[in-house]
Amino acid sequence: MVLVAGPAEAARPKHKVKTVVALGFDDGDSTHFKAAQILRSHGVRGTFYINSGDLDAKGKLTVGQVRTLVRQGHMIGGHTLHHVRLTDLTAIDQRVDICADRAALLKLKIPVTTFAYPFGANNGDSQHAARFCGYNAARTVGGLALGTCGYCAPVESARPAQLYSVRTYGSVNHDTTLTDLKKQVTAAERAGGGLLPVVIHKVCARVCGDYSTTEKLLDEFLTWLDTRKKHGTVVRPLESVIGGKVRPVPDESTWQEF
Ligand SMILES: [Zn+2]
Repeated sequence: MVLVAGPAEAARPKHKVKTVVALGFDDGDSTHFKAAQILRSHGVRGTFYINSGDLDAKGKLTVGQVRTLVRQGHMIGGHTLHHVRLTDLTAIDQRVDICADRAALLKLKIPVTTFAYPFGANNGDSQHAARFCGYNAARTVGGLALGTCGYCAPVESARPAQLYSVRTYGSVNHDTTLTDLKKQVTAAERAGGGLLPVVIHKVCARVCGDYSTTEKLLDEFLTWLDTRKKHGTVVRPLESVIGGKVRPVPDESTWQEF
């Protein structure tokens, strides 16, 4: 499957793009500012999923830092106001939270077109809410796996069948190795390519919690990914695959209507 390339890539394609590795950094952690600079040193961009209600809080990115990320070409996505488990909420409360978070980000002039479900937790109501609030796609956690599990796949489709439940491998965590990540990429390549979203939480100098990885591992992964271009593998934000315009968020008076 051939993915649509940007104008620069379209002009002189060296290798046909087959696999897009989309790095997603969840929760607006303050360590992501440094992680973004590591991406930048490799000439690639990622998506940073922000809880708008936690911006400027201790251990979180500041509004100024998020604006810098946007200026540097990174993408920002929504992740609810305060990282709520959506499946604990009623359909209406899910809609109010997702829409309020997106409205807050748009008000800061931060364009957001994709969403990530906190904890990956979602149901039909969450998916409807993400669409209603103007997102073009929403990412869950899970659904992709190596090996021969009956319902699992090694890579998401370049045109995900479920745009409001885009699949991933489990989050990168403290014991994920470079070999583990390479295996996911080569499995995607062997399957003919597609979209490979990677879920990352904290990125520290040394492991700093279960859901963390190191700056060194991120840097090594990007160095290795650069060698996969000849196999048609590139690193791009999820939005480059999903496409679509920045839709307005519906008027607040409609959020509680059914
Ligand atoms: Zn999260």
